[in-house]
Amino acid sequence: MLNIKEVVTKIADIHAYSENLRVFGLTLPEGSGFSFVPGQFVMVSLPGLADANGRKIAKAYSIASSPSQSDLLELCIVSYPAGALSPKLFQKNIGDEVVVTGPYGVFQLKQPVLPGTVFIAGGTGIAPLMSMLRSLYSEGYDHQLQLFYSVGEPKLFLFKEELLSYEKNSNLQLVVSTSNHNESWQWEKGRVTETFPKHAAEISKDAQFYICGPPIMVTDTVKMLEQLGFKKENIHKEQW
Ligand SMILES: Cc1cc2nc3c(=O)[nH]c(=O)nc-3n(C[C@H](O)[C@H](O)[C@H](O)COP(=O)(O)OP(=O)(O)OC[C@H]3O[C@@H](n4cnc5c(N)ncnc54)[C@H](O)[C@@H]3O)c2cc1C
Repeated sequence: MLNIKEVVTKIADIHAYSENLRVFGLTLPEGSGFSFVPGQFVMVSLPGLADANGRKIAKAYSIASSPSQSDLLELCIVSYPAGALSPKLFQKNIGDEVVVTGPYGVFQLKQPVLPGTVFIAGGTGIAPLMSMLRSLYSEGYDHQLQLFYSVGEPKLFLFKEELLSYEKNSNLQLVVSTSNHNESWQWEKGRVTETFPKHAAEISKDAQFYICGPPIMVTDTVKMLEQLGFKKENIHKEQW
C-alpha cells in the first residue's frame, strides 16, 4: 500500500530541451519514505506559492524516473506563459526547493507485462511510459516491447540516447516520428496515427496498450486502435 506524502525536494538537474520544455531532476530527502508505481504522478507546488485567495497552487506531473532510483524524481514539464505554476518553476535553479505530494494515479502496468505490449506517447506523454520502461528494464525484462513516440519537433525527442540504447540492447522496437522533420531527421515522419498503421499487422490483436499524450492525440489513437480491431479493454490511457 502506497502512502501519500508531502516532501520538500531540491532541484538537482535541469535539462532544457527548448525554451518551454524542461526535464527536472528532483532529489528526495534522505529517509523521505516516498515511493510510487511507474505511471503515477505527483502534485507539484513551490514554497509560498498561492493564488489570490491564499490557496496553495499545485499541478500534476507524471513521474518519468523509475522507482528503482529511490532518491530521484524526474519530471518533464512544459511551461505555458500564462500558467499559474509552470513559468514560476522555470524561474527556479539548481538547489531550489520544490514541494511534491503523492503519489497519485491508477495509470499503471497490468501484471504480468506480456511480450508485445505497446506503448504510445505524444510529447511529454513519454514521462509515465518512460518510468514503466525504465522500471521493466532495470528488472531485466527482455521480451519484445514496442514504443510509438511522436515528438513535436526533432529537438523534443526526450530521452533520446537512453531510448536508442533500449532499442539496441533491450528488445525495444522504437518507432519515433515527427511531422516537423528537418534534413537530419532519420526516423519516421508523421503522427502516431500515420506511423502505427504501417506496423499494425505485426501486433497481436490481444496486445495491451498504454497511451499518454495530449487529449486530441489520445482520442485519435484510441479511435484508430479500435478501428484496427484492437480490444477496447486492453487500452489504458492518461492525458493532459
Ligand atoms: C495526471 C496528470 C499528469 C500530468 N503530467 C504532466 C507532465 O508530465 N508534464 C506536463 O507538462 N504537464 C502535465 N500535466 C499538466 C499539468 O498538470 C498542468 O496542467 C500544466 O503544466 C499547466 O499548468 P500551469 O499552472 O502552468 O498553467 P495553468 O494555470 O493551468 O494554465 C494557464 C494557461 O496555460 C495554457 N495551458 C495550460 N495547459 C495547457 C495545455 N495542456 N495545452 C495548451 N495550453 C495550456 C492555457 O492557455 C491556460 O489558460 C499533467 C496533468 C495531469 C492531470
